[in-house]
Amino acid sequence: MTNCVSPMSRDHRGANNPKWRGGAHTAEDGYVYLWSPDHPLANKRGYVMRAIVVWEQANDKPFPEGMMPHHKNLIRDDDRPDNIEPKSRSGHAKEHVKTCLRDMSGQFKRRPA
Ligand SMILES: [Zn+2]
Repeated sequence: MTNCVSPMSRDHRGANNPKWRGGAHTAEDGYVYLWSPDHPLANKRGYVMRAIVVWEQANDKPFPEGMMPHHKNLIRDDDRPDNIEPKSRSGHAKEHVKTCLRDMSGQFKRRPA
């Protein structure tokens, strides 16, 4: 998944899929989620972004509160530690505005290289 949608859309619709349970899943928003109900940053359904877990393991500390994992190469399922960077919500949105263009329908599009 390399398409770039607004980072502000935080409804992880994949989590509403009744067939979606257990293990690692790529949600419709392109991020990979792990079933981890005990994780402090797990959502209501008990899933946490794999990027958060990977970052925590690589850095040996909890993911900063209020931050979002940003994928530096904009590939949302590329959860390698070097590709993940904590960003504040506003900083994260700015990061995506820098790298994405909105098309006529208001969707973010990746700027051609
Ligand atoms: Zn991002």
